[in-house]
Amino acid sequence: MFWNPKIECMPLDELKKIQYEELKEQVTRLYETNQFYRERMDSKGVKPEDIKCIEDISKLPFMYKQDLRDNYPTKMFNVPNNQIVRYHVSSGTTGKPTLVGYTRDDLEYWTDALARSLTSAGVGPDDTLQVCYGYGLFTGGLGLHYGGEKVGATVLPASTGNSERQIELMMDLGVTAIACTPSYFIHLIDVAKKMGVDFRKDTKVRVAFLGAEPWSESMKKKIEDATGIETFDIYGTSEQAGPMFTDCECHNGIHIPADIMYVEVIDPDTEEVLPEGSKGELVVTMLKKQAFPLIRYRIKDITSLDYSPCPCGRPSPRIARITGRSDDMLIVRGINVFPSQIEYTLMQIPEVGDQYMIYVTREGALDNLTIQIEIKPEAFSDNMEEMLSLKRRIESALKKYLNIAVTVELKEPGELPRFEGKAKRVIDNRVI
Ligand SMILES: [Zn+2]
Repeated sequence: MFWNPKIECMPLDELKKIQYEELKEQVTRLYETNQFYRERMDSKGVKPEDIKCIEDISKLPFMYKQDLRDNYPTKMFNVPNNQIVRYHVSSGTTGKPTLVGYTRDDLEYWTDALARSLTSAGVGPDDTLQVCYGYGLFTGGLGLHYGGEKVGATVLPASTGNSERQIELMMDLGVTAIACTPSYFIHLIDVAKKMGVDFRKDTKVRVAFLGAEPWSESMKKKIEDATGIETFDIYGTSEQAGPMFTDCECHNGIHIPADIMYVEVIDPDTEEVLPEGSKGELVVTMLKKQAFPLIRYRIKDITSLDYSPCPCGRPSPRIARITGRSDDMLIVRGINVFPSQIEYTLMQIPEVGDQYMIYVTREGALDNLTIQIEIKPEAFSDNMEEMLSLKRRIESALKKYLNIAVTVELKEPGELPRFEGKAKRVIDNRVI
């Protein structure tokens, strides 16, 4: 099902022409009017007239998160203030936040991208969409809200929190679609279970749009097995606009509408552009954004590109499920460890529940990786022998996959913290 079949099914070579025209216009405008972009381009010796095809994008300089911080709050904006109709603010873990401004058209492109995504999952006027992303400065709530209304669905702006009420509303209003972080959805599954609610029998929810944090393929399977709900992986960051893109009904990668965004994958260390299929850091260029443009922005998410034809009929490139961020990669005893690898391994072990926490500490010169894991109620036992053998089995599975020794601490069901927004499962206590 298509929201905008003309654009969504346009052959790639035609899309490339659109991409080139948009890029050329954007770069010319930025060079003429925006000091940051002009200085950055001059420092690389590149002028707007050097862009003669979309592939020439590789001549342009990169943009970094630090650029956004250095130019906070509005120095990156490229329209007069009277054209800005909304702000969103993303909280950085370090330093200043990032302020993103939107013109009316910027909101329209964002909403249109979401309308395409929701339609590809079969969501339309007959659906009720419960948005359990945070409303406010975070982009998740309002983004999905406007996307849902655009396709004619009835939107329930539930936001986060009050989980029992969320489940009651889901049942009372016959909610068919839900959008939230995967960790919050897992929490909702837990709460529903405690309330004696079975997603299959007692609710009409059939699709869930989960994102805003990396989650693994095995987590997806676990959620789908527990609820019978088809899950879609939704992607987008506040710098781009907010949540925008999902995988289609074929579930083989997140479609990136090529008329809105140009994607590259680079080696994070050398900044060299990598070929299709190679894993690296995503670099995005927003082709239509007016208020807060992004040219070759290093978004830090780790993925790969796929241009092979998708059976759904959309020729747009797809990005693989985000497996982490190049800056949330932990280096433990000199070995690169992604939290997503840990999650992937844990979710293969049937006794392991949905909650875990990762701690990194340093004793003398030695790093220690400790993982606290909640065990499923049915697997939890008072028999010390049994628990010790399970602990050793998990430690050995992790060591095999991560190439590093890990200490596992088993926790009783319900003992670890729950997250309503983005999960914060990694605590690095090393003083470096
Ligand atoms: Zn597809």
